[in-house]
Amino acid sequence: MRHFLLSALVLGVIAAGCTPSPSNPPSASARADWAIAIHGGAGHFGEEDLSPDMQEAYTASLESALQLGEDLLQQGSSAVDVVEQVVRILEDDSLFNAGRGAVFTSEGTHELDASIADGASRNCGAITGLQGFRHPISVARAVMDSSEHVFFSGHGAGVFAASQGAEAAPSTWFDTQKAYERYRRAAAREGEDPVPLEEKRGTVGCVALDAEGNLAAATSTGGMTYKRHGRIGDSPVIGAGTWADNRTCAVSATGWGEYFIRTGVTQDIHGRMLHGGQSLTSACEATIFDEMGALGGDGGVVSVDAFGNVALVYNSAGMFRASARAMQGRVTRDVAMFGPYERPMPCK
Ligand code: ASP
Repeated sequence: MRHFLLSALVLGVIAAGCTPSPSNPPSASARADWAIAIHGGAGHFGEEDLSPDMQEAYTASLESALQLGEDLLQQGSSAVDVVEQVVRILEDDSLFNAGRGAVFTSEGTHELDASIADGASRNCGAITGLQGFRHPISVARAVMDSSEHVFFSGHGAGVFAASQGAEAAPSTWFDTQKAYERYRRAAAREGEDPVPLEEKRGTVGCVALDAEGNLAAATSTGGMTYKRHGRIGDSPVIGAGTWADNRTCAVSATGWGEYFIRTGVTQDIHGRMLHGGQSLTSACEATIFDEMGALGGDGGVVSVDAFGNVALVYNSAGMFRASARAMQGRVTRDVAMFGPYERPMPCK
């Protein structure tokens, strides 16, 4: 079977050994030139669940989004611009559950959630239940940059989006056959418990460290198939689905949103690093496996720390993921989708 590790070198998840702080930011020589990681959702899928054509399509989509991010970082774009631009590309890609391709709610509509966080300013913006706008992530960015608030919902989010000149899109723009079939299957099983999770999910996200040493994260989703009108998942919730702070890390999550909210996944990772001095990888593993996973949730995160270490950690069978990192001009790159994540045995 074809393997989808595309790089010559698999990106190592390198424990930094210490956590930067405002008085101790990593020097330019101690950190990567830049780093980026993206996800296209986590779930219970294996190689046998995706046809070779679909595997190729996902790989091509992840690669082209990654390439855009790499090019922008190489040109010196800011982390916050990069994560927004990469997520916009994924929102337009009908393979993923975000923007075009978003899942249907139980009422047959699309209610879109997105959030963005800037590690330099520790500012953020989010929207939930947005309808009729092509790029929810750019509306979230406008909330961060052009409002005195951080979170808009439903009708108010739409009014705000329109006031910012966000690009509108008819509901048919978001409809895809794949999402519609999932909706029909979920409708047919209404009342059954549980509806298989792999029928429900997906999300896209991006984290980046730029050449200036700034971190940012962005996440966008249609949520879960057949979600009830008004249901809010983790993706637009800062601290659950998205986080960025230059002192620690940038994180974007995907998975069973209720569990990510209940355990405050992305902020928990940040807190472990800031207050507990944990490395990025051990913080992600502890949060995903010992907190969120221990409650019964599943999914994962893509993350990058202030040194440019990348950790892609998940407890589901697979996660669509890609990452790249430049160290003294040398770029390493990895695109993958199947799992499982191998957590090393904790040291005794
Ligand atoms: N986290 C998203 C939600 O619960 C779904 C996903 O990432 O698969 O809305």
